[in-house]
Amino acid sequence: MEQIQRDESFMRAAVCEAVRGDAVKTSPNPRVGAVIVEDGEIVAKGHFERDGGPHAERQALEALGRKPKEGAVIYVTLEPCSTQGRTGACTDAILEAGIRRVVVGASDPTEEHRGNGVRVLEAAGVEVVSGVLDLECSALNPGYRGHSTGV
Ligand SMILES: [Zn+2]
Repeated sequence: MEQIQRDESFMRAAVCEAVRGDAVKTSPNPRVGAVIVEDGEIVAKGHFERDGGPHAERQALEALGRKPKEGAVIYVTLEPCSTQGRTGACTDAILEAGIRRVVVGASDPTEEHRGNGVRVLEAAGVEVVSGVLDLECSALNPGYRGHSTGV
């Protein structure tokens, strides 16, 4: 299988994980899903459950319960946040976990934040692939206008 097909199939799993979030409980924040893949297999999943709770990336890392293996990849339906909100920037969580490849679905829709998460990760030497299943990932959150302050 080509890399892009693999990435799309794992992103599809992240989209399925995102829809487990309840759009009412997560409001005004978006529904987001994340999966961690090691050696071609999904080893952990996480989704954003409620406003003020940990983001999908942190949920997945917590579900894994250990440091990801070398070569682990995280798939996230929305560009990871890079600003310190109530729960800490997800880019920090990804870097602290030592993950060196991040596959992103939709970009952050706010101009203020768009591309920031990707830039922070790339500046730290992480390989980032963006726009995988962009339409499906964006469709998770119709009308969503972006990370608000205090997310
Ligand atoms: Zn986040």
